Amino acid sequence: MKILVINCGSSSLKYQLIDTDGEQVMAKGLVERIGIEGSLITHQTDGQKIQKETDIPDHKVGIKLVVDALLSPEHGALTSLDEIKAVGHRVVHGGEKFANSVIINDEVMATLHECAGLAPLHNPANIIGIEACQSLLPDVPQVAVFDTAFHQTMPPKAYIYGLPYEYYEKYGVRRYGFHGTSHKYVSLRAAKMLKKPLNELKVVTCHLGNGSSITAVKGGQSMDTSLGLGTISGTIMGTRSGDVDPAVIPYLMEQADLSASEINDILYKKSGLLGISGVSSDARDVEAAANEGNKRAKLALDILCYLTRKYIGAYAAAMGGLDAVVFTAGIGENSTTIRAQICQGLEFLGAKMDAEKNNTRGKEVDVATTDSTVRILVIPTNEELMIAQDTAELVARG
Ligand code: AMP
Repeated sequence: MKILVINCGSSSLKYQLIDTDGEQVMAKGLVERIGIEGSLITHQTDGQKIQKETDIPDHKVGIKLVVDALLSPEHGALTSLDEIKAVGHRVVHGGEKFANSVIINDEVMATLHECAGLAPLHNPANIIGIEACQSLLPDVPQVAVFDTAFHQTMPPKAYIYGLPYEYYEKYGVRRYGFHGTSHKYVSLRAAKMLKKPLNELKVVTCHLGNGSSITAVKGGQSMDTSLGLGTISGTIMGTRSGDVDPAVIPYLMEQADLSASEINDILYKKSGLLGISGVSSDARDVEAAANEGNKRAKLALDILCYLTRKYIGAYAAAMGGLDAVVFTAGIGENSTTIRAQICQGLEFLGAKMDAEKNNTRGKEVDVATTDSTVRILVIPTNEELMIAQDTAELVARG
């Protein structure tokens, strides 16, 4: 089934046309700088890549360009729009309302608007993308696939914070978790690699990229995850702080005379690898600086690895055992040194890394030694394929 996958940001839009039958990407691309000067579309199909700078005042114009590119006789992938059986949209926050992907109707749209306050930077853009597709492809079913949905299986003891309960009831303050599509995809792949049923496995999935989260997946269900109400907690990220004692926030606000939005900016945009190293938010740059002797760059990497290892240990304890650790996303798939440093000291749990096997990038590989009782897996994530598969399954069910 041919599915168009849309991941809409506030000024950009990524797309992939996926044939779920052969798990084949027929075309993909990116619309950038929507509503800003210098807007452009980059479209790729069959090894061809074209780039066109053109005026793209809003998302509807952007999606029209995507549709035109897909239908183009020279570099398109479709002869008729009727071939698209559904559009799958990545939606960041589904609150507590969505534990699974859904076919979008008026009621779902109303609920998405209600959830927008929980992800003010992301959900409004996702909604704009859905509305643009609805108006350009009115007869094609639209499906919402949520970053939060996979984590809706967490028990209350994992998602309720130690705050007065009324804040959960009144304002929905709780742990939601993110990157759910990625954690779900890699845990399904892990079961395939291990040739075991997922419902019998205890897996810690480490999605380590510019944004990072670590999840305890027991029997195929998320039972705890390191991101929370927002996307700051857990291990440190490119520019986000990871866990900090909440007491730091009012203290810093008073000491440095910061407003709520200024402290938010610091926690989201000026912390993590960038804030500690002072070099870059990009792990490659920080690794290069550390190799040249930059002490703060080394410290930033030490903290990333230490916190990640702590979460793996904590989640093994939470699940009462561990069958596999999975590494995915930009850092998890590619950085041999960060993976190795995270696993140093996990031998007591039965997780032993084979240094030679670990010398791999961007491929599905088991990098544990043969006698390791816990498998260590590198699995490239594929959120778009997961969105397309969820969408195709829902539409086929009708
Ligand atoms: P993502 O958000 O999943 O695209 O991941 C982005 C992060 O992955 C950035 O911090 C990159 O520096 C990191 N990354 C990508 N390739 C490598 C690599 N070969 N070695 C180390 N880090 C990498």
